[in-house]
Amino acid sequence: MTLQRIVTHSLSHLASLLTSAHPPTPLRSAFRTTLGLGSAAIVASLFVGVAAFGTVSDSPFPPAAQPIEQLLAPKLQMLEEDATATYVHEERFQRGDTLSVLLDRLGVDDAEVTRLLADRNVMQPLAALRPGMSLQAKTDPDGNVRELMFLAPRDQLVSIQRADSQPADGFRVDTRAAALAQETQMKSGEIRSSLFAATDAAGVPDGVATQMADIFGGDVDFHRDLRRGDHFTVVYEMITHLGRPLRSGRVLAAEFVNQGRAFRAVWFPEAGGSAKGGYYTPEGKNLRKAFLRSPLEFSRITSGVSMRMHPILQQWRMHKGVDYAAPSGTRVKSTSDGVIDFVGREGGYGNMVIVRHSGGYSTRYAHLSGFASGIRRGARVSQGDVVGFVGQTGWATGPHLHYEFRVNDQYRNPLTMAFPAAQPITPERLAAFRTTADALAARLDQLRTTNLAVLE
Ligand SMILES: [Zn+2]
Repeated sequence: MTLQRIVTHSLSHLASLLTSAHPPTPLRSAFRTTLGLGSAAIVASLFVGVAAFGTVSDSPFPPAAQPIEQLLAPKLQMLEEDATATYVHEERFQRGDTLSVLLDRLGVDDAEVTRLLADRNVMQPLAALRPGMSLQAKTDPDGNVRELMFLAPRDQLVSIQRADSQPADGFRVDTRAAALAQETQMKSGEIRSSLFAATDAAGVPDGVATQMADIFGGDVDFHRDLRRGDHFTVVYEMITHLGRPLRSGRVLAAEFVNQGRAFRAVWFPEAGGSAKGGYYTPEGKNLRKAFLRSPLEFSRITSGVSMRMHPILQQWRMHKGVDYAAPSGTRVKSTSDGVIDFVGREGGYGNMVIVRHSGGYSTRYAHLSGFASGIRRGARVSQGDVVGFVGQTGWATGPHLHYEFRVNDQYRNPLTMAFPAAQPITPERLAAFRTTADALAARLDQLRTTNLAVLE
């Protein structure tokens, strides 16, 4: 069952939120359009406004939506009509490709390929091409190159143009910041096997999935708490180049329904137009908690592990800790701010880190395969900082993390603890927050209504 709904809508409130780009994120899943077999995810898309930024595009790229077939088809016909016509081809640089093979696929004439390969002016910029990147070629009807163009790292648009005025057929290289645009996208999905399976099915990029796990990480342990039927709605930024998705940006709002409990988050920047900010409930409560629910970094690899595998040891009463089955090397995070109290090997614990937190709290992370750099006794760590990596040192029958939580050195079960939240929105910013939060909450409601209609 697949349903895609696209609603065009402009939302001016969002434009003011679109301030800073999130670190680049692999967009593998964003290009997936097929749904996994047996997937019952509901996919709904709403494009809620487009905000242009950066320089105005004067790019000679054709519109992204134009299929390659259309570009190829008129070639023979145009050859007779117009010798000055240009053809634009685009090909992805694939693993194992050579430039000569790639240029050949782009319709460049063999003799021209030989000329290009011998031209340092051309080859030097092309050395930046990496597998997965696309190269566009504008050629004349004889397969001679007018221009080669690609988007290099750090969003630089590299153009290699044939400069007719120069003697001996020279090429001129021009590098400039690409004209990027920012869209706001909205998607929703339902968990069947893992969060990533659901986000893949919904076409949500990996970076957005991990952000969701982080945003709700104070309330939901994404390694233990996820159940079939949990569902999410997420509003996020998507950076595009000429209409094509380039990478995901920040999550602006999200709802996660876990075992029937709905959690909602709205991004709100700090005062003074800062790029920093935090996630709050639509009522203005801070979603950041004193402790994270899970000490394991949530990733594509760990996603769904607990739903596939029974945790190795679950007898809480026996050994006073919580065990997380996870692949060796999975990153282990300090669940709260604190100071490293112990790093080393200790009996059945194997390699262990103990972090001391304020208020008499301490946490232990055991059976580690190794420690993160800079983790030594007395070092300060912030919530979410990596302290080590999952392993099976000490008394462990398989790779897993043993996590202990103590208050005044008394064992407590972290799975049942209620943790205090960080500071809420201050009264003087509440009005501004409301404007943002209400608009975003309305988007979440809108998609939820759409989904309900689909389910009926
Ligand atoms: Zn254990």
